[in-house]
Amino acid sequence: MGLLSLLVACSSPAGPNLLVISIDTLRADHLGAYGYDRPTSPNIDKLAMEGQRFTRMISPRGATRPALMTLQTSLPPVLHGVRQNSAIGREGLPTLAGLLTGQDYQTAAILANGGELPWPGFQEQHTVKRLPRDVATTADAITILEQAKPPFYVWVHLMAPHAPYDEHPGEADFRDPAYAGPIDGSSRSLLAGMSGNPAFTEADLDNIRARYDAEVAHADLQVGKLLAALDHTGHRKDTLVVLTADHGEQLGNPQPYLHHFASGYDAVLHVPLILAQPGRIPAGVATETVAIQDLAPTLAALLGVAAPSSWMGRDLRPAFSGGDLPDLAAISEVEGGALVATLNNWAYSRNPRNKGYEFAPIQNYQEAGLAGPPPVLRMPDRKLWQLDQDPSQLQPAESLPAEARLEEELRRFIERTGWPGTIDRVAVPAELQEQLRQLGYVEGSPR
Ligand SMILES: [Zn+2]
Repeated sequence: MGLLSLLVACSSPAGPNLLVISIDTLRADHLGAYGYDRPTSPNIDKLAMEGQRFTRMISPRGATRPALMTLQTSLPPVLHGVRQNSAIGREGLPTLAGLLTGQDYQTAAILANGGELPWPGFQEQHTVKRLPRDVATTADAITILEQAKPPFYVWVHLMAPHAPYDEHPGEADFRDPAYAGPIDGSSRSLLAGMSGNPAFTEADLDNIRARYDAEVAHADLQVGKLLAALDHTGHRKDTLVVLTADHGEQLGNPQPYLHHFASGYDAVLHVPLILAQPGRIPAGVATETVAIQDLAPTLAALLGVAAPSSWMGRDLRPAFSGGDLPDLAAISEVEGGALVATLNNWAYSRNPRNKGYEFAPIQNYQEAGLAGPPPVLRMPDRKLWQLDQDPSQLQPAESLPAEARLEEELRRFIERTGWPGTIDRVAVPAELQEQLRQLGYVEGSPR
């Protein structure tokens, strides 16, 4: 071997690679790694054992594109401007992908549910529509991983846990075979129950949660394939792997709402976060309250790249490197009316104008053949919950110190961001609206 090739062989690879796997609508508490009693997530659980698991990661909004834009820009929706799935957002904001592209990373986004709107900073973006959607998305992502030249940033967004619920023959099935109720996994059967036409029974809710869990297991299978591909390419050791979600799913916690878009309850806001890179990220559990906006600065720091000053999130490395990450509430919004502050075991909602969100848009409601006015979900004003005692948020708690602390954090957030700002429904062409509908972006509609 010549000296030059020896030197090349000995030099460490340029920068760690980054693989971000986000799973649409994935509640943290339906994963084994987060204490769930069903075997929904063997591959994610293994990743969690190898890496750092954050026990309380909070989404800024129960909606796909707003939350994922926060992941990419480290800004809350009021500042990046994506309040709806059909919004493009403010132009020219520094993104994680743009930052890494500028550092000669190869960047690619492979999305099962990301619409056709651009994700700024990525050199490549593919929205996969072949079925089964997550299987096809994973296959495309593996092709990209196999061909990628380090350093790379590959973002894969899966969507199996998003309603409606498909069946996956031969895979995990948690349903009670004796169930004979009206739930069939379709949007119509879910919308009917949410609207009280007729109201869900406990057996219905069990069936819905079992279907959701099977979809979680289906997404987990794809995670296993992606990690196996990373092993196969020899890049597991030099790749930082991130597993997270855009938002969770209410699933009747509390009743009767199932979905995410209209809600600010913890079942919707609490998402998983696992960071793993053997030999580089210590295995462990971080219990600090963290937010999706913290991801970009943390990942940039782990890749040795300076974060733009506009990013609002925190570098989370102190949480797993023996440092101190001070308590800070994670702030989430629901439409333009309500805010929720989450800190440790407390959640506090403010909705001073009593604004609600029509959770079954009229068109879908009529299409589903349902009568009467569509239901509206309102987050309560000045309500506090103690999440470890009351995870479904059924009984408001009393703690003046907790309420005062979270009220103050909300005041500071509003002062800093100008929330609620303008709720900007960027007009998109009718054709694109239809694509968004088909991708599940209009709540209650088919994917
Ligand atoms: Zn989503």
